[in-house]
Order: sequence, then structure tokens, then C-alpha cells
Amino acid sequence: MYSVALDGPAGAGKSTLAKAVAQKLGIIHVDTGAMYRAIGVYALRQGKNTADAAQVVPLLPEIQISLRFGPQGQQIFLNGEDVSQAIREPEASMAASNVSAIPQVRTFLLEQQRDLARHNSVIMDGRDIGTVVLPEATVKIFLTATPEARARRRWKELQEKGHDVLWEKVLEEVKLRDYNDSHRAAAPLRQAADAVLADTTALDFQQSLELLLSIIKDRTRT
Ligand code: C5P
Repeated sequence: MYSVALDGPAGAGKSTLAKAVAQKLGIIHVDTGAMYRAIGVYALRQGKNTADAAQVVPLLPEIQISLRFGPQGQQIFLNGEDVSQAIREPEASMAASNVSAIPQVRTFLLEQQRDLARHNSVIMDGRDIGTVVLPEATVKIFLTATPEARARRRWKELQEKGHDVLWEKVLEEVKLRDYNDSHRAAAPLRQAADAVLADTTALDFQQSLELLLSIIKDRTRT
């Protein structure tokens, strides 16, 4: 069994690439961002201010998150309801970023995340996988690209889903999330000392995938 920790800023392509890597290697892909998104969605639905820990923390005992892994990848359930689509709505991104800064929210998810890696070979993507969740991961990769390249990809994704948003606004939100994710006190986004840096600014999807597979192959000899 082995584990791949894949961290990096919003829009670097972690989830799409991790999904493809998982398919190729026959391991599971755990998208930890989805778990923060599900908590964000729950708090929004309860009419709470997601940036206010005093409003979010009391909700945690009411929340049960479960993941299912199938040929289509990860499905996420919030108290039994499949929220795999709902967590991709634009407002869920900032809600996730907000709730993820709350230490109790991070603790709430930590054991569940570690448990998945204890029982399966995984590629787990997030912000703190190599630094906090799986410090002993077999392979650690820090995936990045310039904010402009990441905003362009996010914008395209949103357009394809029918969300007509301004590119400038997407770029602004990418930068804001970068700032929030790397400046918070609890498990900030940073490259683990022993992580390999993979910059995909100038790479297309296929090239990025090959880069990741070669890094993983190097370290696991699979
Ligand atoms: O990766 P994704 O954009 O789905 O993550 C949503 C938000 O959840 C991020 O902006 C980040 O703040 C947070 N997150 C985190 N730690 C993780 C994964 C995601 O703080 N391991």
C-alpha cells in the first residue's frame, strides 16, 4: 500500500489530475476539498455566516460526511444526501475556504481522512495533506501554476457548466482564496519540505498527468 499527497492552490488542477492518476494506477482518489465544501454547504443551508466559527462549530455534531468510490470517482454524501453536484456551485468555494480556516472543522475531518489512507492505496488532494494529514505519505507533490493560468482554467470550467462569470472576478477570487488558504493559522497551504514541486503553467492536461505519473513511479517503483 502507498499514499500520494497532492497539495497546491485552488485551480492548479489537483482534482482532475488526481482522478486520472487514480484511474491509471487503480487506487482511490480522495478529494478532501469536497469535505470542506460539504461543511460549507451545510452551514450556508442553515443560513449561517461561514466565516464565523461561533456559528459553524455548533453545527459539526449534526454533520455526517461519507465518501463512496466508484468508477466515476468520488461521490460525497452529507447526512445521507448526495451533494457531489451541490458542492461545485460557485458559492460553495468561498464557504469551504471560510470553514476550512476553523481549527475545529479541520480536526473534525482529520481522522476520517487518515483512516482512508490506512485502509487503501490513495492519492489524496488538498492543502495540508503532505504537511498535516499524511506526513508519512510515500510521495508528496506540490502542484502549482500562476494565478492567471489557474483562473483561466476555473473560468473555462464555470463557462462549460453554464455559469457566466467575468474572468477578472474569477482571478480575484483565486487570489483571495490563495491568500486565505496560505495565511490562516490552522494548517496553512505550504509546500512540505520533502514534496516535489510540479508547475503546470505551461503544461496541458496530458503533459501534467505524465509528469505526476513519472514522479509517483520514481518514488514507488510501481
Ligand atoms: O480544493 P477545493 O477548491 O475543492 O477546496 C475548497 C477549499 O477547501 C479550499 O479553498 C481550501 O480552503 C479548503 N481546503 C483545505 N484543506 C484541504 C482541502 C481543501 O483547507 N485539505
